[in-house]
Amino acid sequence: MLNIDGAFGEGGGQVLRSAVALSMVTGTPIRIENIRAGRRKPGLMRQHLTAVKAAAQICNARLQGDHIKSTCLELEPGEVTAGNYHFAVGTAGSTTLVLQTVLPALLTAPGSSTLVLDGGTHNPMAPPFPFLAESFVPLINRMGPEVTVTLERPGFYPAGGGRLRVEISPCEKLRGLELRERGKILSRKATALVARVPRHVGERELRLVQKKMGWMPSELHLEEINNALGPGNILVLQVGSEQLTETFIGFGEIGVRAETVALRAVRQLRRYLRTQVAVGEYLADQLLLPLALAGSGSFTSHPLSRHAMTQVEIIRKFVDVPIEVERSGSVAVVTVGSG
Ligand code: ATP
Repeated sequence: MLNIDGAFGEGGGQVLRSAVALSMVTGTPIRIENIRAGRRKPGLMRQHLTAVKAAAQICNARLQGDHIKSTCLELEPGEVTAGNYHFAVGTAGSTTLVLQTVLPALLTAPGSSTLVLDGGTHNPMAPPFPFLAESFVPLINRMGPEVTVTLERPGFYPAGGGRLRVEISPCEKLRGLELRERGKILSRKATALVARVPRHVGERELRLVQKKMGWMPSELHLEEINNALGPGNILVLQVGSEQLTETFIGFGEIGVRAETVALRAVRQLRRYLRTQVAVGEYLADQLLLPLALAGSGSFTSHPLSRHAMTQVEIIRKFVDVPIEVERSGSVAVVTVGSG
């Protein structure tokens, strides 16, 4: 059994999610102690617990310590079983983080799967749906499998109530990805989503993008969402290049001005555009695990976050593949395997 100290590195939920994902794929039994020791409220929260239980169901695992606030968990995986699954995170817990835990195993499972995930779909501190659909999934599909994600109902924090459907046609073995250069920028799109929030909030966000980035009116879109349970607002900035689409998000919050929300997204976008890196901060930490499973690949990104470095360390415990991170000024080059 592989022992993992959940307090190590960033000491957050990612250590748990990645360890569980890698345990499923590699068939390695794990014991994780000090779960989320680095967080204000340590232990398993609803989102983590749903992810762990979903993982255990999919890989027919023996599970111990699976309760709210638990700081120690044992998982002995069995065989990964493709099929139709429905998992409800409850309230606004992130559906996309549950997906992050179980997706790697299903990408190479012996059969197709459909997942229906209920909860939050546009949460802060998690991949929001537009990022998942337009940035992450297309890259995964280039690695061999065919994944489709459909937003059946959006769920914003704190009301939640969203539904995400994921169809997965697996492949035998993941292929590596080379993302050293992003190539020319071919498209730009700003979308302000407003659900039970006045239209002018979205309009002000888009005005700020126009003023700060000089984007054309045809590149600015306001989408009013009528089927959300509770209020929500996010600004989605996307740039499509020859190699990929990157997505930067500003999350609307009570008490935060629309202009400030927009500025937060603009700052992330500007940081990306200032350099020639292919992959932004969040894609960087999310691509590491699939690339390690593929056994090869490389990308350029910003200097890796502590979150991403924690990912590298966790992956090294399960998969015997070299991961090199070289930094030169404001660019990091990540090479997995021999590249
Ligand atoms: P906790 O211990 O509170 O559960 P955590 O370690 O689970 O924290 P984070 O460190 O916030 O959570 O990371 C969650 C995941 O969400 C990471 O994979 C990160 O890349 C992703 N993520 C966070 N924000 C964004 C964003 N704006 N766009 C895309 N992905 C994001």
